[in-house]
This record gives sequence, structure tokens and C-alpha cells, in this order.
Amino acid sequence: MKSEHQQLLQTYFGYDSFRSGQEDIIESVLAGYHTAGIMPTGGGKSICYQIPALIFSGITLVISPLISLMKDQVDALHQNGISATFLNSSLSANEAAERLVEMKAGMYKLVYIAPERLELTHFLHQLSELDISFVAIDEAHCISQWGHDFRPSYLKIKTLLQEIPSNPVVLALTATATPVVKEDICRTLDIDLDHQFSTGFARSNLTFSVMKDENRAQFLMRYLEKNHSESGIIYASTRKDVDRISQKLANTGIKAGRYHAGMNEEERTRQQDAFLKDDITVMVATSAFGMGIDKSNVRFVLHYQTPKNMESYYQEAGRAGRDGLDSECILLYSPQDLHIQRFFIDQSQGTDEWKHQELQKLNQMKDYCFTEGCLQAFILRYFGEENPDDCGRCGNCKDNRAEMDVTTESQMVLSCMIRMGERFGKTIISQVLTGSKVKKIEEFGFQKLSTYGILSAKSAKHVADFIDYLTAQQFIEITGGQYPVLKVSDTGKEVLLGKRKVMQKELKQVQTITNIDSGLFEMLRQTRKEIAQNEKVPPFIIFSDAALKDMAAKLPVSI
Ligand code: ADP
Ligand code: MG
Ligand code: ZN
Repeated sequence: MKSEHQQLLQTYFGYDSFRSGQEDIIESVLAGYHTAGIMPTGGGKSICYQIPALIFSGITLVISPLISLMKDQVDALHQNGISATFLNSSLSANEAAERLVEMKAGMYKLVYIAPERLELTHFLHQLSELDISFVAIDEAHCISQWGHDFRPSYLKIKTLLQEIPSNPVVLALTATATPVVKEDICRTLDIDLDHQFSTGFARSNLTFSVMKDENRAQFLMRYLEKNHSESGIIYASTRKDVDRISQKLANTGIKAGRYHAGMNEEERTRQQDAFLKDDITVMVATSAFGMGIDKSNVRFVLHYQTPKNMESYYQEAGRAGRDGLDSECILLYSPQDLHIQRFFIDQSQGTDEWKHQELQKLNQMKDYCFTEGCLQAFILRYFGEENPDDCGRCGNCKDNRAEMDVTTESQMVLSCMIRMGERFGKTIISQVLTGSKVKKIEEFGFQKLSTYGILSAKSAKHVADFIDYLTAQQFIEITGGQYPVLKVSDTGKEVLLGKRKVMQKELKQVQTITNIDSGLFEMLRQTRKEIAQNEKVPPFIIFSDAALKDMAAKLPVSI
């Protein structure tokens, strides 16, 4: 026996069964509860409001920021025999007034509304005179200032709900919400814990990888040589890059399109349509492209630069493989990406608190690039899942390089940080560790420390990367905004105490430290002495002489 909802699913949409989460959400809404649904991209969120809309007696409002797609969505509903329309800035005042009259006459089950409309007081007033049963909020993370895509007009939803006398049921839907954002959405819209449904964020058909130390232009061309017949998106961070890359691809005979906010609307629509129809194979775009794009056969999403945070990254990468077939998400990392993003944050109009939060998100993005653990598990943890399993497919899971014990090197770095008073950033710490003679070191009084040069067989960049690795593994914490300060974390202290080992995948070319001299021992001894003398510092670094000898036995070491 099929339930009423299943029958509607079959009759109107032609699907046999619900996907995970859909029925729970639909039932909760129809029972009259304010509800939240968190489902990955392509999980099937639209059905969650479209089926209740068929059952409720009054109108269903769908608030969505995707103005350019409203017409397509409405057309698709018409094809399924469902009466729907939209209200957004593409309509003239007369057209909008006409639609309101039609709505009043009960001509539409579903009405898509752009959030900007809600800023018009007279419009809110007009809506309040309609028989509205249900308000669905798509991309509900836009309501939260902690989200990556906050839109002030979304806050007007509260006012809308207060204006409508019939107390409509509310459904908030999103694919990207960190625990903080989810809480914010639910608090704003009065959604109880019992009516929050999450099918998790995992996308089992996506394979993530991060490419570091690659020449990106070369990597891209090599990749496209193998995959040029597949539909894919390349995200670049600036309009100039988009123009340049798409031109270059076109020159090599790839059917490449481009999309960014600097192009006029007509051209953007043309390019988007060509991509949807597969006339364009590879779309090169800024992050302006893709929100709500329902193109099922995108086989890869390649980020030419590191995005500003994990939410943006997962949302963009998640546009691959909506049809459930295997697809790739590749991120090309380069340190200058982070400098640029940091610059953008710094130059922005945001409050200090906002900037601080954005910088922290950027740091987590960087940790994603430097982790050696499962990339998918990293993403799931970021979105609040506890103890996610390793995916077994991502670049890191597939990385079978041997692991090396780098505990000693980690101790060198961490104790050097402590010796320097935990007041500095990565650059100067790596300079001291590699025995640099830059003036700054002298100015800060670390000349002597630097002469030990305990990691001087390495370049400062190499050591800086190792520091990034230790940060990604949470042994180092970053505080401060514009001038990040590195501190040893609690787990880092365990490393210093010898209670915890640090393992790292073998580097592609193993190099060994050759010039080990008394410097290392001198430095470790100094550290121990100083800590013993300064009672304010917890005595977490106690290198016994035996431990020092033990370290000596292990040298020369590779890092
Ligand atoms: P989301 O908004 O969560 O990203 P959509 O609502 O756009 O996802 O749905 C993604 C795709 O999955 C659409 O093509 C939709 O028709 C399809 N779909 C949704 N529900 C089902 C279902 N129960 N069975 C099969 N396909 C479904
Ligand atoms: Mg959607
Ligand atoms: Zn993995």
C-alpha cells in the first residue's frame, strides 16, 4: 500500500520512492510543525515543500534567492501539472499586481518569492491578505550572519511570518550549515530540535583531492587532456582569471564558457544555458556561478584557487555529480591564495568580529589543504558530524606513501615557538629554525637562537609547510587576525612531553638533516632550563638527558 505522499510523488513527479529524509520532513510539515531539513546538494529538497504544497489548502510561498532559476522551476512544475508562479524583480509593477490578484483568486498552489521583495512594506501587507498555509525557505543558511552567504533581506522573513494572520507552517532547507548556523536558523524560526532533520552531508559519489606544489596551469591542461569530453566547472577567484583561463582553453579547442558578475546579464544567461544544454563542456567561472544550477552530469569541479571557507568550497564542489555518478572535486592549493583572501577580508567593510570569524574560517580552509587525514571526513567534521568514517576514495585515503615518525622535528618546532614566547607568526619562526640572518630576527632578539639553525638543512618554505601541517593536525593553534600568532595547543604540549607521536606521510623526495650539531641539544637544554626557571609556564617540556640521548640516536632524521 502506498501512502498518500508516495502516490503524489508517483503521480506528479514520476518517482517510485522517497529519498532519505524526504518523508520525515514532509510528515513533520504536514503535522503542522515548523521544520528544518538539512540535505546535501542534489538530495532532493524541492520535493520536501512541493508535496506538502499539493496537500495544504492555501498557498505555499517559497522564498529563494535564485531569481534566475525561478522561471525554470515554475515551468518544470507546470509540466508536472502543478499551478505555480513567481514574484521577483524581473516583473513590472503591473505584472506583479496582476499576479497578486491571481493569487487571491486561488490560481496558484506555489509561489516563488525573491527575498528582496520582502523589503517592500506594501508587498508584505498585500501578502498578509492572502490565504497562506506554508512558507518554505530555500537556502535557509542565508538567514544566519554566521553563514557564508548572509543576506539581510532574509531577516525580513521574520516580519513576513508575523504579518500573516494564519500562522503558516515554516520549513527551512539548506545543504550547508555548520552547527552554529543550524542553531541560528532554528532559533530565528522557532524550530524545535524534534523537527530538525539531517541526512548528513556525505556525498558518497564524490572523490576529493587537494593538489599542492603543482604548477596549476600545467596541472589543469594535463587534467583536461584526459577529461575534456566531460562536463565540468573550473572555479577561479577573479574575473580576470576566468577570462584568461577560458580563453586559453578555447584556444586549445576545448568548448569552454565563462561566467562572472562583470558580464552583462544577457551574456551570462546565454553562457549558462549553453552549459546546461552541453553546448559548453567546461564552464570557467567565479563563485557567482552555480547557485541552484540543476545540472546533473557535472563530472568534475576543479578549484583553480583556494576558496575563502569550507562552506563555499563544499557548496561549489558539491555541484559535481548530482546524478549520483562518480565525480571528482579537485582543489589546487597555493599559499598566495590565502594572502589574497586575507587581503579581501581585511579590506572589507565588516566589523572586527566578522573579520576575525572570516579569518578563522580561512584557517580551517587551509587546514583542509594540509590535512593528511580523509578529506571527506574533514568536511563532515566541519559540518558537525561526530567521528565520520574515512571515505577510502579521496586523495588522502588513496595516498599510500609510508608514514614517518616526525615527533622529534615537531618538538623542535614547538619548543622553538615556546622559546620565542608564542608571540610570532609562521614566517619568522621558520626563519629562526632555519638559521636565517634576516634583520628582523636580530631586532626581536633571536639572533642566538637562530644561529643554532636546527632545521637549516631545510628551506624556510619547507619548514613553513611543516608548520602548516602541524597546524592542520591541531598541534598548533592560530590566534590573532591580520598578524596570526602561533601557539602550542594542548595536544601540541603532549607532543612536547613525549606523550604523543606525530606521524607524517613521507615527502616525495626524502631529505635528511645533515648538519646536526650541538645546536639542537643546546636549544633543547635552554628550553628546559628556562621553563624550569619560569614558574608561570607549565612544566610541560621536560627533556631528560636520557631523552636527549635518545633523540641523538635517531639523528640524522628526515622531515
Ligand atoms: P536539492 O535542492 O536538494 O539540491 P533537488 O530538489 O533539486 O535537490 O533534487 C535533485 C534531483 O533529484 C532532481 O533532479 C530531482 O528531481 C531528483 N529527485 C528528488 N527526489 C527524488 C526521488 N525521491 N527519487 C528520485 N529522484 C528524486
Ligand atoms: Mg535546491
Ligand atoms: Zn577519504
